[in-house]
Amino acid sequence: MRHPDARQTLVAALGELAERGLNVGTSGNISVRVPGGLLISPSGIAPEALRTREVVELDEDGEPRKGSHAPSSEWRIHRDLLEARSEAGAVVHVHSPHATALACLRRPIPPFHYLVGLAGGTDIPVAKYATFGTQALSHNVLAALDQRRACLMANHGQIALGPSLGSAVALVREVENLARQYLLALQTGLEPAHLSSEQMAEANQGMAHYLGQSSSSREGDR
Ligand code: 13P
Ligand code: ZN
Repeated sequence: MRHPDARQTLVAALGELAERGLNVGTSGNISVRVPGGLLISPSGIAPEALRTREVVELDEDGEPRKGSHAPSSEWRIHRDLLEARSEAGAVVHVHSPHATALACLRRPIPPFHYLVGLAGGTDIPVAKYATFGTQALSHNVLAALDQRRACLMANHGQIALGPSLGSAVALVREVENLARQYLLALQTGLEPAHLSSEQMAEANQGMAHYLGQSSSSREGDR
C-alpha cells in the first residue's frame, strides 16, 4: 500500500469532521496531494467504516489505480483544484450545518467579522449551483475560489483548501463558525455592520503577523 501515513491522516481527519458535527454519514470528502497525483476518500463510505487501504489514489488525470474503490463523486473538483492551485496540498469539502444553511439561502458571508479574511478576501462567496459530482460543479467551485481559499456551494455545503490537510480542516471549521455567528446576528432581524475594505486589509495584515507569531512560538515549543 502506497502512502500509508498520508492515508492514515486522511482517514483520521474524516473521523474528526464527523465527530465535530461538520459531516453526517457519508457526506463530505477530502483529498491530499501526493507525488504524481492525489489521495482521495472513496465514495459513499462513512468515516467510521473507512479503512486506510480503501483511500483511493488518483494520478494527475484523475485515473484511479487498478482495483481501487470508486473515488469520491467529487473527484473532479479535487483534481481540478489541486491542478489549478499549486499552493494547495489538501482540499476539504463538508456539509456543515450553518455554512450549508447560508449556501441554501445563496447568501455569501460578508465582512461582518475580521476573520472572514482567513478565506483570502473580503467575503466568502457562494459557488453557483450544479448537480453534485459533475464537471459543471467543479467549474463553478473553481470560479468562486478565484482569489479565495474557501467558499460556500449553493444548496450543498462548503469547501476549503490549504497548504496542508490540517490547515484545510482548520479553515472549514472557521467558515462553519463564521456562518453560525453571521446567522445568529441575522436572527435579530438586522444586518450586522460590515467592515470596510481598508479595515479588512488592516486586519489581514495584523493577522499575518499574529499567525506568524503563533507558528513561531509553536516551533519554539518543540
Ligand atoms: P462522496 O461519498 O462520493 O464523496 O459524496 C459525498 C458528497 O459530499 C458529495 O458532494
Ligand atoms: Zn457534498
